[in-house]
Amino acid sequence: MVSTTQKDDAEWFRCEECGLLFDSEIDATTHERNCDGEDGPSYLQ
Ligand SMILES: [Zn+2]
Repeated sequence: MVSTTQKDDAEWFRCEECGLLFDSEIDATTHERNCDGEDGPSYLQ
């Protein structure tokens, strides 16, 4: 699930699988759908 967080007076959307932050809920949801954080991310950074 994508969670929201406040940062720099703006709302960000965080992928709970790998922790990446997005400024768009659509981007975060799309990312998380393809995120393999649960299996151990191999592409981070
Ligand atoms: Zn992710």
